[in-house]
Amino acid sequence: MTIKNYINGQFSNPISNEWIDNYCPATGEVYGQIPNSTKEDVENAYTAAKTAFPSWSQTTLEERSRILIKISELLETNLQRFAEAESKDNGKPISLAKAVDIPRAASNFRFFGNAITQFSSESHESIGQNAINYTLRQPIGVVGCISPWNLPLYLFTWKIAPALAAGNCVVAKPSEVTPMTAYLLGDICNQAGLPKGVLNIVHGLGTSTGQAIIEHPDIKAISFTGGTATGAHIARVAAPMFKKLSLELGGKNPNIIFADCDYDDMLETTVRSSFANQGQICLCGSRIFVEASIYEKFKKDFVAKIKALKVGHPSEASTNIGALVSKPHLEKVMEYINIAKEENGIILCGGNKVVVKGFENGYYLEPTVIEVPNDNCRVNQEEIFGPVVTIMPFNNEDEVLEMANKVKYGLSATLWTNNLKRTMRMSNQLQAGIVWVNTWMMRDLRTPFGGVKASGVGREGGFEALRFFTEAKNVCIKY
Ligand code: NAD
Repeated sequence: MTIKNYINGQFSNPISNEWIDNYCPATGEVYGQIPNSTKEDVENAYTAAKTAFPSWSQTTLEERSRILIKISELLETNLQRFAEAESKDNGKPISLAKAVDIPRAASNFRFFGNAITQFSSESHESIGQNAINYTLRQPIGVVGCISPWNLPLYLFTWKIAPALAAGNCVVAKPSEVTPMTAYLLGDICNQAGLPKGVLNIVHGLGTSTGQAIIEHPDIKAISFTGGTATGAHIARVAAPMFKKLSLELGGKNPNIIFADCDYDDMLETTVRSSFANQGQICLCGSRIFVEASIYEKFKKDFVAKIKALKVGHPSEASTNIGALVSKPHLEKVMEYINIAKEENGIILCGGNKVVVKGFENGYYLEPTVIEVPNDNCRVNQEEIFGPVVTIMPFNNEDEVLEMANKVKYGLSATLWTNNLKRTMRMSNQLQAGIVWVNTWMMRDLRTPFGGVKASGVGREGGFEALRFFTEAKNVCIKY
């Protein structure tokens, strides 16, 4: 299948007529081509967006809301087709794409379609000065949205939906590794009646297409989700141009398990928080710390559950773990397993590639649990972003808190305990943007979402996202 750019409501080839191979991770085969777009394609997308802006920014909230909700409904109608496409492009089980990725993409449009009708700005009466201040929340203009490969449509729409709801026009780029569902979205937007040029989707490499977006002098805000090194690069390019920046970056999240937790619930959720989406979720709890008194029991029970997970072709209903997203990524993850061995980590289970019959060239890897001798080793400090978790025991709250916070990242943390005072003490002190207690990845789209330290700056979600995608202008009137 040949993917095209979506510019000004139409599908077009890249001006250079250069293409990139698109791989299916489950088979390791090339199954399509995507545009290798250049600066000129981005310029065309920008011009379309700029032209559409005066009208879109003045479109009533009801009408914007109606169109976004229509996109949401069309995604739901096309659930099966989108789930299959996402699975083929990314390697994730179809069951996961069907239960999580595509429904959430639909929710993103529905949520922001509704949220914009409830969004309001403030006024401040300056008592004793005979003045009133009111604050306008105006759309920025043309904004750039750049997303990664792990939750392709889910994260792409998590940016686009609030940007559009707030009245901006968008130049967006999905990951070149997983472009398919973003391509399919263009047609849905046309069917929903989104005016041409309001959303433009340009495909290509980060270093060329993405770079052209972040360098563009008139794209005034960049919402980016991806790796920390890329985020730092984007900040270096965009900050001197005074662009607004939202950066959602990497993580190395602690999963802290106390002996007083609800054990069965914890065990079941920890399997998911470790290996859902082949461990390729920025929120996965990749560092598991277990209170010493239950460490041996946990180790035995957890490893038994992980060994029972089925690695297989993403379209099989019985598959728990699909393929990793790409060959280079599989090699990176394997390299970390070697590093763990060199650092005296003990591979409790997994560690090897899996050959799936009939799909011998697919990128399959066993879910891997590594017992680490200390928390300073590289596999405990660096983001692996694959089906690999580390486990180690801890003795008390202070010790585990110190280890949990002793990484450069600070995205999320999970805490398993029934002790209320401890919950509140630790939630206060954990260096993370999101803390889950006795659950994982439970999402309410109104809540602020984002990280601290090397996990990024800014918050997405709810009104935070609508604030990011608007400029506040205060008007002070004396009477
Ligand atoms: P990546 O940084 O390599 O790429 C992300 C996107 O940025 C892609 O679309 C890519 O083409 C683009 N890009 C690359 N270089 C660019 C440049 N110079 N200018 C503009 N755009 C550029 O990340 P990835 O490998 O696709 O995704 C994995 C990473 O994403 C992990 O680190 C993961 O933790 C992170 N992530 C974070 C969150 C979060 O919410 N914090 C969510 C999902 C993934």
